[in-house]
Amino acid sequence: MNKVVDVDSFYKKIYYLKILSKFRVNIIVKDKKREYQNSSVKHPDKIDEILKMVNILNTHKRKDRYSLIYDYACDYLDNEFLNNNWCDFKKNMCISNRNKPEEYQVGSCCTRTANRETCHYFDDTKKRCSIRCLSCKFFVCRYLESHGIKYRVKDIPYLKYFLSLRQKLFARISFFRTKEEIISDWLKFYKLP
Ligand code: SF4
Ligand code: SF4
Repeated sequence: MNKVVDVDSFYKKIYYLKILSKFRVNIIVKDKKREYQNSSVKHPDKIDEILKMVNILNTHKRKDRYSLIYDYACDYLDNEFLNNNWCDFKKNMCISNRNKPEEYQVGSCCTRTANRETCHYFDDTKKRCSIRCLSCKFFVCRYLESHGIKYRVKDIPYLKYFLSLRQKLFARISFFRTKEEIISDWLKFYKLP
């Protein structure tokens, strides 16, 4: 069974749509008379987020659903940092560290200032985290915080609407943990919407 919902009323109906999705109703989004049900089909940019939400609703296997939620949330934060260039890397050093006295400088927040040890999950060749840790992606250092940059779980619709309170807490505090580990915690604390 299908349920067609207008793009403009999607968020107003989200809790109702979550109930329908429990009964495996397939959600379709309508934008100016065109219907979409999959974020991989060509669609206007403005409905990209809603189509990802629909993809989550239409994914009924719990583990697969959490995997999508995790990936979309990581993409959301990656795009925010990349598009806004918050960390402003130059010669492999972020803006926060470039602003410190030389003796305190390290490459990024994946290396500790105290002992210069880099997290073992950091891929030095690709210069990025090898495990896409969602909680680490929320981290902003004091320098960025002092410039008003901060992200909360409720800023990300995939986490805000699909996770329980306890799952949201795990999304925020599970630093240095892999996607599989975080999803396994979400599964342990699964709660109906
Ligand atoms: S969050 Fe701060 S310390 Fe971490 S990489 Fe960005 S600017 Fe550097
Ligand atoms: S787990 Fe966190 S600290 Fe370690 S490399 Fe990944 S982002 Fe950096």
